[in-house]
Amino acid sequence: MSAQKTALVISAHAADFVWRCGGAIALHAEKGYAVTVLCLSFGERGESAKLWKQDGMTLQRVKDERRKEAEEAASALGVHDLVCLDLGDYPLEFSRDNKMKIVDVIRKVQPAFMLSHSRYDPYNTDHMNTTQAVLECRMIAQAWGHNPGEKVLGAPQLYLFEPHQTEQMGWKPDTFLDITPVWEKKRAAIEAMQGQEHLWEYYTRVAINRANHFKRNSGGQSGGRDCRYAEGFESVFPRTVDEL
Ligand SMILES: [Zn+2]
Repeated sequence: MSAQKTALVISAHAADFVWRCGGAIALHAEKGYAVTVLCLSFGERGESAKLWKQDGMTLQRVKDERRKEAEEAASALGVHDLVCLDLGDYPLEFSRDNKMKIVDVIRKVQPAFMLSHSRYDPYNTDHMNTTQAVLECRMIAQAWGHNPGEKVLGAPQLYLFEPHQTEQMGWKPDTFLDITPVWEKKRAAIEAMQGQEHLWEYYTRVAINRANHFKRNSGGQSGGRDCRYAEGFESVFPRTVDEL
């Protein structure tokens, strides 16, 4: 097995990984991580309004378009592997079978860290149900009695990326990541999301605002480093450290 570091993003719909952690993906890819993006669905019913407004649209065509956009975004970000499970959306349902598919990916990737949605999202229950399922799948992947003989999962941090309608989600960031060096890659990935053009500028502004929080927490005007674009994350698990 290669010693390359790995990371795993679990995205309910095909575009979520772009808005919410595209910078983290591009940055870690540049640092040599093999980043796998697992898209549980294409967001074909719930996050493809612009496509559905076209005449004669079909579910399959929407899925095909969304897959194409996700592939284009993934390539702009330097994603190592884009895995699309096509589990369906609105609602995205987590049968035992579906959970096992996610566990298999987690065990195969053996991520150093994972990224997924906020714990609460009353606007989009697919998102919060994904996080619940990810926690469960992470637990199963750690169990020595699950498919004995496979490599069990260690204890990767699960970072929750920023939701839409941030203040309504009970999401509280404790980590800000400077994505300035890879901003152009994130913006290119954002622009691959042709079906959601209304979000392009919104998520550019989010990145600029989070950069301000990065600066404030890195020392602000008393010597903090500059940052123009950032992403915020909430970590689920404690850190184990040798020094504070
Ligand atoms: Zn979504």
